[in-house]
Amino acid sequence: MKVFVTGGAGYIGSVTTELLLNKGHDVVVFDSLERGHRSAIDDRATFEQGNLRDKEAICTVMQQTKPDAVLHFAAYALVGESMEDPGMYYRNNVIGGINLADAMQKAEINKIVFSSTCATYGQPDRVPITEDTLQRPENPYGESKLAFEKALRWYQDIHGIQSVFLRYFNACGATEKFGEDHAPETHLIPLILQVALGQREHISIFGEDYETPDGTCLRDYIHIVDLAQAHILALTGDHSGPFNLGTGTGYSVKEVIDMAREVTGHEIPAVIAPRRPGDPPRLVAGNEKAKTILGWKPKLDDLRKIIESAWQWHQEHPNGYED
Ligand code: UDP
Repeated sequence: MKVFVTGGAGYIGSVTTELLLNKGHDVVVFDSLERGHRSAIDDRATFEQGNLRDKEAICTVMQQTKPDAVLHFAAYALVGESMEDPGMYYRNNVIGGINLADAMQKAEINKIVFSSTCATYGQPDRVPITEDTLQRPENPYGESKLAFEKALRWYQDIHGIQSVFLRYFNACGATEKFGEDHAPETHLIPLILQVALGQREHISIFGEDYETPDGTCLRDYIHIVDLAQAHILALTGDHSGPFNLGTGTGYSVKEVIDMAREVTGHEIPAVIAPRRPGDPPRLVAGNEKAKTILGWKPKLDDLRKIIESAWQWHQEHPNGYED
């Protein structure tokens, strides 16, 4: 297949591109490089630099490249930032998404796999979270992703663009080539590893008074190679609708720090800090639907393996991609 990957210079897009190429697919990466990295684009892919907010640019590239399907990763993805500037999230994630969907319609491309998120559920009434859980996002980031899911349902009904929404839980880990490098970094695992590399004094634990076994938030950490595999299954089969992508196991912030101490051999000092606005206490995936319908099975579903792979990448790239 010829696959069009928006955000292919980003964390999950780069790894999915790598796996698609390994399987013999052709990949066109479309990325603005505003947050992605040029050196995170696999050199076997064709690269088209552009921004989804520029409708003419995306329409032109879509017409010229005529892919079989689109994987849509390009988005802003920071809860905290979205709580400060919601407009930025609507413009980029919703309007940018609509421009992409319009470009697909014009070029008669009829399949999209969209990177959605467990943040569309907000504070769930129960965990594990299944796909039919009510979606009540608690921040503009989750709301912007939900808005585009809803738009895509209409593009499917009206224009026949088949769409799959993959609702990721906490993406983490690395391959030998590609890993996590955000600026500023806000994610737990890379921040912990920066402490182990001597780049930070300590890790802050955002809240120790949640109703969880050790008082810190529970998250479902899913390896990006497993996420990438799910995209390939979603792309190659006849699927549509939402699928949760998580392991089904929740780890607390303290458990993640303890595992990183074991893996790195560094003491990783931790300091208790106030809660971070917008953080639900527990987010754990019910992943039965992805298992039974997509035939997906997370293989790297072990916190030690996840942190080991991330640690290896961060040791080899202590300053990230450096571009
Ligand atoms: N977290 C933390 N300290 C940090 C960064 C994150 O305690 O410096 C917590 C955060 O409150 C959440 C969990 O770690 O409970 C995972 O946060 P992350 O930002 O990695 O992902 P999110 O769950 O927000 O998508």
